[in-house]
Amino acid sequence: MSKFAWVTLTTNDTYSLGALVLAHSLKRSGTAHQLAVLVTPTVSDAMRDRLKDVYNLVQEVNVLDSQDAANLALLARPELGVTFTKLHCWRLEQYEKCVFLDADTLVLKNCDELFEREELSAAPDVSWPDCFNSGVFVFKPSLDTFNKITEFAIKHGSFDGGDQGLLNQYFADWSTADIKKHLPFVYNVTAYASYCYLPAFKQFRDKIKILHFAGKLKPWLIPFNSQTKTASTPHDYTHAHDLIQHWWTLFCDNVHNVLDNAMHKAPGSEEASVSSPGSAQGEAGLAGALAQLRIGVQRTPEQEHYENLMRRQCWESGQIDYAGADAFENIWKKITQTLEAKTEKTEDAEQTDNANASDNDNDNTTLSSNKLLTQSASQLLQQVSAASSRRSPSPRPAAVRTEQQSSNKTEATTSSRSQHIQQSTSTAAKARGQKGMRKFK
Ligand code: UDP
Ligand code: MN
Repeated sequence: MSKFAWVTLTTNDTYSLGALVLAHSLKRSGTAHQLAVLVTPTVSDAMRDRLKDVYNLVQEVNVLDSQDAANLALLARPELGVTFTKLHCWRLEQYEKCVFLDADTLVLKNCDELFEREELSAAPDVSWPDCFNSGVFVFKPSLDTFNKITEFAIKHGSFDGGDQGLLNQYFADWSTADIKKHLPFVYNVTAYASYCYLPAFKQFRDKIKILHFAGKLKPWLIPFNSQTKTASTPHDYTHAHDLIQHWWTLFCDNVHNVLDNAMHKAPGSEEASVSSPGSAQGEAGLAGALAQLRIGVQRTPEQEHYENLMRRQCWESGQIDYAGADAFENIWKKITQTLEAKTEKTEDAEQTDNANASDNDNDNTTLSSNKLLTQSASQLLQQVSAASSRRSPSPRPAAVRTEQQSSNKTEATTSSRSQHIQQSTSTAAKARGQKGMRKFK
């Protein structure tokens, strides 16, 4: 049995979808090494069983959370405090060497040569290349290193509130000490950032070994048509369409048929829920919703239900397809239809009232305000259409929007120097608002 392992992490059933697809991509690459996944208590039993089918080791670990709201706000990623949980990978001493892969990565080619590298080898981060991206890294499991990093975290925190800031502070000489520890970019290509340098993306597209869906828009959040088995790639990411489609193809071929309704959303998570009678342990989340889809057949009410859930999740996570389904015109059409329907209803009611010779001021007020609203809304729409036809046609990339939104928050972060890692035996306790957190030992 190999002494080397690929290691990933999932803290809920939704990220587990990524872990399942990742495992299948590794198997397809023909790796000779072991597959291990760290799971927290909030991953359902049903999901753990499915993970056991493809991972040699499913290791339960406790949640480690940076609790650093201020720095995470700068990243606009409040959910990433739990990525400190990744540190548990250093405790897997049964392996000689490992490669950590985020659950949102996809292996496109065999990468077993990575095990020839030393700790800590990683590829540069696209946004700050003197930092490494912690979605893919080579490490040597060691309890001693685990203790040192967690002690370091308690003392210094993480400059971005997540694992990447912490690991870059701990392995601080990565950018200068040893070029062999710089993995080529093809081992960690950020799927969505490549619009910055599209010619290079096109030139080296076939050399990509590991793709990383870093950022808020995970492949499982991209609307997917179950009838045609195709992903509806948002306008900004059309260059990566075939890669997003590859994720969904692996999902359809290997993962969809093993999902079941008992897969739920994490307690306390903000993920939109679907009502599912089969969901015994909690409300069904994405995995539960996907389990109900019938792939390759005509659209069912479940499909529509699922699409609504996806749309809502994208909206709530700030991913709005401005140029596509969520275009202003579409939203406006819906508002107008709703207002018109309301006006017609009120008119009918008024006629009935008049027939009864009843003098009701309220109804008249509602009727006239609806009409007024519709009229002024139409005027507004005309102005907006005129203005938008003068504007540049291309929407601003999501990353730029995020930077600009975040720049206002810079002051808030400096005040947060008292970060501490905390461990909870159950995120459920945290979700219920109980102070189940204790200082990491
Ligand atoms: N992760 C998780 N649950 C979460 C957030 C993150 O299990 O709620 C794990 C998962 O393995 C994920 C990794 O931590 O891939 C890092 O988070 P993410 O990939 O979302 O960060 P990004 O790559 O977008 O910076
Ligand atoms: Mn990631």
